[in-house]
Amino acid sequence: MPFICENVECRAVLARGQVRSIRESEGWCFYCPDCKARNELNDIGAPGGPVELIQPERSDLPHKVIATAQPLEDGRYAAQLRVQRALGVKGTYAVEERWEQLGVFLDAHEAVAHAKSIAADWLDRKA
Ligand SMILES: [Zn+2]
Repeated sequence: MPFICENVECRAVLARGQVRSIRESEGWCFYCPDCKARNELNDIGAPGGPVELIQPERSDLPHKVIATAQPLEDGRYAAQLRVQRALGVKGTYAVEERWEQLGVFLDAHEAVAHAKSIAADWLDRKA
């Protein structure tokens, strides 16, 4: 089984020979050679025996939230949101949900903040 980088922006699939597992005070891990993210590992080897490292099971694949403000003709902004689920292969995402217009705001920052709060609620409900 290869390792898969848990960084949702990366999701590199790494052969075991490509990564160097290291033991830190919090336990085993490896650093992704592509994005340098720390990935946790568990030692499932028998006590006293050779180390056998696996990636901990994640119940859910990570989500990627894209909140944007779309400028409208009247100078206001529409809050837009896309939520994607990372797949097991680098750079691929499945679009799960998409909202084109969650509301109209005078300020782009407010529109993005609104979209992000909707995303947080949505992910909470899924959890
Ligand atoms: Zn990575």
